[in-house]
Amino acid sequence: MQSKDEKYMKEAIRQAKKAYGIGEVPIGCVIVYEDKIIGRGYNRRTIDKNTLAHAELAAIRKASRKMGDWRLEGCTMYVTLEPCQMCSGAIVQSRIPRVVIGCMNPKAGCAGSILNLLRMEEFNHQAEVTTGVLEKECSQMMKDFFKELRKAKKEKKDKEQNKKADAE
Ligand SMILES: [Zn+2]
Repeated sequence: MQSKDEKYMKEAIRQAKKAYGIGEVPIGCVIVYEDKIIGRGYNRRTIDKNTLAHAELAAIRKASRKMGDWRLEGCTMYVTLEPCQMCSGAIVQSRIPRVVIGCMNPKAGCAGSILNLLRMEEFNHQAEVTTGVLEKECSQMMKDFFKELRKAKKEKKDKEQNKKADAE
């Protein structure tokens, strides 16, 4: 039987796949309160041309609207990739008590990789962090995306070179 964490991580993966479908880096997020999803989000940074369009911020915005409060006490965030510094900051600011992460992001993650903004005692709020939930699925999705992206870039470049060769 799947655990509750796995159940909701699957929902976050479903969100990530929406991003994948529109050519965005596949990162998805859901926020759960009393066993109900109250906020969903997926990465739309390129399409929205907005660095604030991260999955976590979209989910926080929706969850806050639903709760009628900027405080998301009692909520759990499920996110397919370790949050960046901006989103980790928003997690602390919104007082989310627990964050469940699919795979880590060694180059940009701020929930344990580069630093852990969620566990700093100097701040007035810390979140409990669970990592590695459906890790393989989450990281495979990223690998597939970047592999396809590289392939598409290479094909484009080859095409351009062929065109150039034809013209010469
Ligand atoms: Zn972020």
